[in-house]
Amino acid sequence: MLGRLTRWLRLLGFDTLYYPDISDSRLLRVAREEERLILTRDTRLIKIKGVKDYLLIKANDSFKQLLEVIDTLKIEEFKPLSRCVKCNGLLGRLLNKSEIKDSVPEFVFLNFNLFLKCSGCGKVYWEGTHPEKFREKLSEVLK
Ligand SMILES: [Zn+2]
Repeated sequence: MLGRLTRWLRLLGFDTLYYPDISDSRLLRVAREEERLILTRDTRLIKIKGVKDYLLIKANDSFKQLLEVIDTLKIEEFKPLSRCVKCNGLLGRLLNKSEIKDSVPEFVFLNFNLFLKCSGCGKVYWEGTHPEKFREKLSEVLK
């Protein structure tokens, strides 16, 4: 239900796990063991006995959901481009550009110099990976 919100949160550098299909008991166990806050839209889930650390998301639009999370938790620090949007892995700076010559379009290879690689899935990121629309919205959050 919150796949897009997950992407926004990772884009801003938050360690975010996403389980579109998980049993309640497993979800609660992961949250407890890893000391994670549960973000959910499921009012049934939060009524389960012992569920305390959760945030019930009310907005429908994913960007509004993001603002809801930031406001409610009073988050002021962000680390954009530090996590992989796809798998939550940490991004590391690539020092040797030639390493990724075959994994990005030629135009990108020639026109950008800063590349980051995901330590989890190997996806390569660069300054222009995310469409402008995204970056505009992000700068709204970051200011
Ligand atoms: Zn990744």
